[in-house]
Amino acid sequence: MTIRTRFAPSPTGLLHIGNARAALFNYLFSRHHGGEFLLRIEDTDKERSTQQAVDVIFDGLKWMGLDWDNEPVFQSTRQGRHAEVVQQMLDSGHAYRCYCTAEELAAMREKARAEKRPPRYDGTWRDRDPSEAPEGMPFTVRLRAPQEGESVVHDLIQGEVRVANAELDDLILLRSDGSPTYLLAVVVDDHDMDITHVMRGDDHLINTFRQKMIYEALGWKTPAFAHLPLIHGPDGGKLSKRHGAQSVIEFREQGILPEALDNYLLRLGWGHGDAEILDRAEQIKLFDVDGIGRSAARMDYRKLDHIN
Ligand code: GLU
Repeated sequence: MTIRTRFAPSPTGLLHIGNARAALFNYLFSRHHGGEFLLRIEDTDKERSTQQAVDVIFDGLKWMGLDWDNEPVFQSTRQGRHAEVVQQMLDSGHAYRCYCTAEELAAMREKARAEKRPPRYDGTWRDRDPSEAPEGMPFTVRLRAPQEGESVVHDLIQGEVRVANAELDDLILLRSDGSPTYLLAVVVDDHDMDITHVMRGDDHLINTFRQKMIYEALGWKTPAFAHLPLIHGPDGGKLSKRHGAQSVIEFREQGILPEALDNYLLRLGWGHGDAEILDRAEQIKLFDVDGIGRSAARMDYRKLDHIN
């Protein structure tokens, strides 16, 4: 089997350090196994995506020496394919149209708040005959998610993670304007790009349970998942502006060399000694997923080499 990883940033900023680390790890993992590293620009959020941010991603990856295989995939060009898959799920009964109005959904949220429980879709249209829908009424498409039991993810870093299915909800696949949600688009694209390993920040772990349900509904093979612990600031809190630079572009502007940055990022979460500076060939030789730690990495800017 050819190992195929991907880096899938949303073009909305300056290439955050957490994303750069995900790109580096995906790159090294695929190269270590003689596989492919693909790039997908997740530009479906028209309000927040910019061409400038796309250029920043290309420039940043090139500056870091992370060359990707094939042409980059722009997620926004694949909406037809996403809609086709949703239709397939409607036809097979794994998805259904939900005609709830904004007011009805707000009432569900309000009820949950009053009952002090997390808001959940109450399943109004789950088993209702679609012919009962008022004509011309806008609808979303939801996954008919399992309600009972639990879901398990065997994560290559986090180990076995479980969640009760009742927590997961009938997630939305297609919005009322016909656009796909992030959860659906990522599954379809990873499948079509033959991605074997999804390595990303552990803020996506809950999405993995949802995405796994989509894979299962479609009868598609689920890729392996590896969720990287988030990068924290030196004080253990969320990494933020007060800790210093947040993005690859800022580091570059400060005169940090790419080799210093990638060695630093490698040490944020990957356990290979502390002292040595590894060149790219050594990184590729040594890197594997079993060396990635489970606890949150702490970014300590004092350890970054500013001398060049
Ligand atoms: N586009 C998502 C992000 O930038 C990542 C999606 C993924 O890796 O699955 O957070």
